Amino acid sequence: MSFDLRTRLDERRAAALYRQRPLLESPQGPEVVVDGKPLLAFCNNDYLGLANHPAVIAAWRAGAERWGVGGGASHLVIGHSGPHHALEEALADLTGRPRALLFSTGYMANLGAVTALVGQGDTVLQDRLNHASLLDAGLLSGARFSRYLHNDAQSLASRLEKATGNTLVVTDGVFSMDGDLADLPSLARVAKAKGAWLMVDDAHGFGPLGANGGGIVEHFGLSQDDVPVLVGTLGKAFGTAGAFVAGSEDLIESLIQFARPYIYTTSQPPALACATLKSLELLRSEHWRREHLAALIRQFREGAQAIGLELMDSFTPIQPILIGDSARALKLSQLLRDRGLLVTAIRPPTVPAGSARLRVTLSAAHSEAQVQLLLNALADCYPLLEPNHA
Ligand SMILES: *Cc1c(COP(=O)(O)O)cnc(C)c1O
Repeated sequence: MSFDLRTRLDERRAAALYRQRPLLESPQGPEVVVDGKPLLAFCNNDYLGLANHPAVIAAWRAGAERWGVGGGASHLVIGHSGPHHALEEALADLTGRPRALLFSTGYMANLGAVTALVGQGDTVLQDRLNHASLLDAGLLSGARFSRYLHNDAQSLASRLEKATGNTLVVTDGVFSMDGDLADLPSLARVAKAKGAWLMVDDAHGFGPLGANGGGIVEHFGLSQDDVPVLVGTLGKAFGTAGAFVAGSEDLIESLIQFARPYIYTTSQPPALACATLKSLELLRSEHWRREHLAALIRQFREGAQAIGLELMDSFTPIQPILIGDSARALKLSQLLRDRGLLVTAIRPPTVPAGSARLRVTLSAAHSEAQVQLLLNALADCYPLLEPNHA
């Protein structure tokens, strides 16, 4: 007996689904060096351009001088240090929630929150297009797990009719592969009517959305009563790493008691929390990044529509170009790369079969001229694709 890994790998390659990791040889930003080649990139999640910001780097450095580099223990033992605590208070303030709890990654925050809140005999209802970490969390929880149609409050309502036990409704805020917004006002209304709790993972909304970067709940003006469980990640617009859950006193105390991915792991380096405190300050106070980003999004959408590209219903920095077939998506990505541009092709199973796409992401660190270069290259390359063989 042996694991036939080679056959699995060969099948994946034959299906144009094989994944490879580009080797980044520069800091994150619009102009990167990848596999030895300088490229203009439109694929990171550093939406506000803070991942390589001098003030954030200086805060990290000063934090390391003051606190050392390692967390050294889990939060419940002796790893919960001053910067972690200060960051939790600042995140509670950003979200307008009584408290926030810091996790090491967004994946862990989602696993922790869902598994702490529901289990056997309960129900978890999720949007079909939710992030993989939320779907995994639902399966791991042991609760009855069902997916409703994408962003469809009607479909949610019909599933809520059959729900038993404590019921958690879970959705991305900004959908990570499509860029569209969850219809939170409707979802919250339907959930509340049935006494279910709504959990929103706003990994891509914090920073770009809301007048002060407070994400989708600020955008829609939703309270803790509407969205009792609010998750944000720090590796995207915050430009650093980690994640948080914000909510009531009882919610946060429950996570500290029962969320295993919170309890059984070493705290993040305190210096990282120092860096995030600085990026949070920039994210909240320097509105010009959000404004510039919004202008780039408009520029891209107008230009792409003029070329005849199929965009999605998004006004966020996630601007996918729908291609359909995986091999064609790879081909367009390769043609752009030959012209010095890096835009990743996203294929199944990350997105539904037949909906491969180029996932363009824009950042406040891009210039208008760089977006124009992308549009010019797309105008040259898109007509070179073979038509879809449907
Ligand atoms: C990126 C992402 C995560 C995972 O966050 P990490 O901190 O990178 O682990 C979770 N949810 C969504 C919607 C994401 O886009």
